Amino acid sequence: MNHNIKIGVSSCLLGQEVRFDGGHKRSHYIDDTLGAYFEFVSYCPELAIGLGVPRPTIRLISRNGQVRLVDSKDDGIDHTELMIKHSRNQCEKYTDISGYLLKSKSPSCGMARINVYNEKNFPDKSGVGIFAYELMQRYPNLPVEEEGRLNDANLRENFIERVFTYYRWQSMINQGLSVNALMDFHKTHKFILLAHDEVTYRELGPMIAQVNPENLEKIAAEYISRLMQAMKKHATRKKHMNVLQHAMGYLKNDIDTDDKQELLDVLTQYRQGQVPLIVPLTLLRYHLRKHPQPYINDQHYMKPYPEELMLRNHV
Ligand code: SF4
Repeated sequence: MNHNIKIGVSSCLLGQEVRFDGGHKRSHYIDDTLGAYFEFVSYCPELAIGLGVPRPTIRLISRNGQVRLVDSKDDGIDHTELMIKHSRNQCEKYTDISGYLLKSKSPSCGMARINVYNEKNFPDKSGVGIFAYELMQRYPNLPVEEEGRLNDANLRENFIERVFTYYRWQSMINQGLSVNALMDFHKTHKFILLAHDEVTYRELGPMIAQVNPENLEKIAAEYISRLMQAMKKHATRKKHMNVLQHAMGYLKNDIDTDDKQELLDVLTQYRQGQVPLIVPLTLLRYHLRKHPQPYINDQHYMKPYPEELMLRNHV
């Protein structure tokens, strides 16, 4: 358990009765499962701007090329400026959070595909909730996800892996950014990067090799931005296979023919979708315990987050 890791959450997802109708949208997975590993920082943007509970519903409209947040029944009641101001103030407090879980479909909290109504009252799903927009503008590298998407095993695994990676980055920065710290960070995240985006993996290596005290800040900023962007890409079975084979290469002189064949068989089963990622990884880790390879053992890919979350049992 690591309650040092803080995650922002839309209040209604934690069962707080803050919705317009006095209800909530408690997410069992977020509250019960993730709640055991993270400290939640909850916030309801609509409550924060003084809209009470219960309250009239609000929505996004498009007028004269501008998106506004207004009362659903009366366009003249406009909350846009107030919502932007409160959201910006709130986001300033979030320097130590490592991820954010937002309620979908909300004109305040939704991160994408929010209805925006035109003059003829037709909606299109081009909007972003105002608070969500301000959050993502202020912290472009912060892992952000919607609660509904966590039902997808791959998106869930991807979000949690990004949160832990971002947290390690924040911890490194808090301890003091240095050339060695940045190089070490990159070295231990190479496999994670390779599993998501081989092109970025090949580009960031040479970039990190050039780091020196003069360009450190600039390279660090570009590095974390590119790493977090790359990690949004889906780590497919094919990409994981590439990483696993790469890791296996380091064991080739230490394990005998039978063990090698067993590993290859398990890799084939994984490639064919017969077993989840945890199976080849567990076998690899078993051999790495017997024949330690510091470079591989230090890869966060081998243990990116607490095993009990069981995320790799489903991808
Ligand atoms: S504003 Fe956000 S936190 Fe508040 S009820 Fe709506 S979706 Fe939930």
